[in-house]
Amino acid sequence: MMAAFEKVYDSYWYVNGESVTNFEKEYAAYNQVENAIGVSNGLDALFLALKVVGVKAGDEVIVPSNTYIATALAVTYIGATPIFVEPDIDTYNISPKNIEAAITPKTKAIMPVHLYGQCCEMEEIMAIAKKHNLFVIEDNAQSQGSSFNNKLTGTWGHVNGTSFYPGKNLGAIGDAGAVTTNDANFATQIKSLRNYGSSKKYYNEVIGHNMRLDELQAALLSVKLQHLPNWTLQRQQIANWYNEALKDVSEIILPKVHKDATHVYHLYIIRTTKRDELQQYLTQQGVGTMIHYPMPPHLQEAYSFLGHKKGDFPIAEELANTMLSLPLYPGMTQEQVQQVANAIKQYFNQIV
Ligand SMILES: *Cc1c(COP(=O)(O)O)cnc(C)c1O
Repeated sequence: MMAAFEKVYDSYWYVNGESVTNFEKEYAAYNQVENAIGVSNGLDALFLALKVVGVKAGDEVIVPSNTYIATALAVTYIGATPIFVEPDIDTYNISPKNIEAAITPKTKAIMPVHLYGQCCEMEEIMAIAKKHNLFVIEDNAQSQGSSFNNKLTGTWGHVNGTSFYPGKNLGAIGDAGAVTTNDANFATQIKSLRNYGSSKKYYNEVIGHNMRLDELQAALLSVKLQHLPNWTLQRQQIANWYNEALKDVSEIILPKVHKDATHVYHLYIIRTTKRDELQQYLTQQGVGTMIHYPMPPHLQEAYSFLGHKKGDFPIAEELANTMLSLPLYPGMTQEQVQQVANAIKQYFNQIV
């Protein structure tokens, strides 16, 4: 890491240089996709993806009702309206069964989010998109390396966004993201849009943005990318340890993986109606947990203008009220997993 840092530092070339180009090649190879374009962060990646496929103000874009706010915000930045569709109660990913009912003449795109590390049911989603002539933009911020029927996330949609926010499976030491696409034309447009709408210095084809990936982040991401396959295996191993250690705790629901999907466990999430009490108990026992996410987008104050109310998306609301993310990070030992599992069991033993 420090060698990569010094190389960039000593080059005096901090933007639009070879570290970004190299990382883009490496990430595209890892992701088995034709083009990866480094950008400033995941939200900007999704925004640029919506922009190049031509989503415009007044259009509608289908997003899951239980996603992180960024998916909906990218749609709002364009001036389009996020249309929330409920997830599957088992996988927590957008349910293909619910998508068609939400399609209107204004619908331009579907944004499946591979939430928590599991790939969505992409075959069905792509078929629905084809039938209705819609673009698909994958939000792959949480699931680099997961797949459906052996095809990786970030390769299904027309243009897709991912994030290298520090807490993601592949994290920079600041903000960073990428767009992935198999469409050369979209790739060229993204490269121009992220750099002031310019592909030749001081000549601007379109009104662009400053949404570039820094050289330094790219150089560090190249180093970390080499470890990602191993880190993913570790995450899956830790999840298996949790599954085994918690399988007899009848009060909690463990993560479920669709038979054709793989899961890279960005998060290991359990569900229980005693969520808040359990979290409090675990905190007292020195086990730090988190809630992803306590409030779905349709109930956020920022989205009050959409006019949704409590009860509009009951599955998203149920998930927000019952989910708890247990500690999971590469390097976590089986003993540490067992300690967390023991604390959970103790909690349920003492309340009955
Ligand atoms: C993190 C995240 C984003 C946004 O990524 P940033 O790099 O923080 O902008 C978008 N969607 C999902 C599902 C995320 O988890």
